[in-house]
Amino acid sequence: MTINAPRGTNDILPPDSFKWQYLEEKAKEICRKYNYKEIRTPIFESTDLFIRGIGESTDIVEKEMYTFKDKGGRSITLRPEGTAPVVRSFIENKLYGKALPFKFFYSGPMFRYERPQAGRYRQFHQFGVEVLGSDNPLVDVEIIKLGIDFLKEVGLSDFFVEINSVGCKECRPPYLEKLKNYFSEVNQELCGDCKRRIETNPLRVLDCKVESCQEIIKDAPKITDNLCDKCKDDFEKVKNGLNTLKIEYREVPTLVRGLDYYTNTAFEIKSDELGSQDAIFAGGRYNGLIEEIGDRDIPGVGFALGLERLEILLEGKELDIESGIDIYIVTIGESAEREGFKYLNQLRESGISADKDYFGRSVKSQMKDADRKNSNYTIILGNEELESGQATLRNMKSGEEFSVVLSELSEKVSDLLDN
Ligand SMILES: [Zn+2]
Ligand SMILES: [Zn+2]
Repeated sequence: MTINAPRGTNDILPPDSFKWQYLEEKAKEICRKYNYKEIRTPIFESTDLFIRGIGESTDIVEKEMYTFKDKGGRSITLRPEGTAPVVRSFIENKLYGKALPFKFFYSGPMFRYERPQAGRYRQFHQFGVEVLGSDNPLVDVEIIKLGIDFLKEVGLSDFFVEINSVGCKECRPPYLEKLKNYFSEVNQELCGDCKRRIETNPLRVLDCKVESCQEIIKDAPKITDNLCDKCKDDFEKVKNGLNTLKIEYREVPTLVRGLDYYTNTAFEIKSDELGSQDAIFAGGRYNGLIEEIGDRDIPGVGFALGLERLEILLEGKELDIESGIDIYIVTIGESAEREGFKYLNQLRESGISADKDYFGRSVKSQMKDADRKNSNYTIILGNEELESGQATLRNMKSGEEFSVVLSELSEKVSDLLDN
């Protein structure tokens, strides 16, 4: 019996893997510009980290984590997201004692036991940024701009920005009371999930997609009408910052993140192409999270971007990806193959990507292979060429041909590629 990849996972094969490299490179380039530095945390962590860092009552922790006991009896979880590990590392390495803020980016696989569907896998990939140690609202604007720059850089233009403020530990509790009272009065008209949420997490009622609930949510008290002065001021600064950078946005008062340690700015960057529920990237402030994980009152803000979803949006778009080779060496006969192998090595040593046939195929099949490998140039080596020390380079795109002295092959190919 054959063995397949586990459900909800997939192999990233060439040429698709070039696309992945391209996206990861672009993300790194943007982060370099913004002075965000890479952090690499383990793929698995202590389960407790995610229970505290994501929240016990969330879908992720309740249903979606890959949790198991290791041979030492420790409860281990494959990371379902990137923020909690970054915060854990920040505290463990005592980075709060150094020059703040710390600006990180990460990129890598995450794991959630979800029902697989288009763009949603059990092993999926996220690129994200986290800024720890500053509560300046301009940092919120900076990361939104960073994400947008990334989307534009890879060729997307069809997206929009939604923002909200979810308040702080001063102004949110009284707002939640108001919200509870409002929903309690219309309790009978809410869906079953929402009925439960009124008590456990009334903010999440605002998130409900059920149509009858939507009607009721429309008239619910808005958090932005109930912010304290500091939160109001911070939210204004975020909006001013977005205006300064000419980033258009919509204010969406129902855009919430349900847990107590999420504070102030919440944002989502969406595309109509993904359907109404799916953001390309989303994030916000979590000024209470570091205290939750590490007993320190340090502010943080970040976003995460799903690369699989981005891939869907990029489908059919021309990307600036080089997946071919510079030159393919076609050889005729055994001694030409030996010599060709030598030239192949020379070319590679001078930094040129080169390949040859390894099946002793006919010249015609080798040319076909060069085409398949998307080679810029080919050169044919037979006894005649070896004796004269000269051969013909052929540009596979234009059909142009160049005579070349074999002892100068690498230089000649370099010159042609430079032009
Ligand atoms: Zn507040
Ligand atoms: Zn509902």
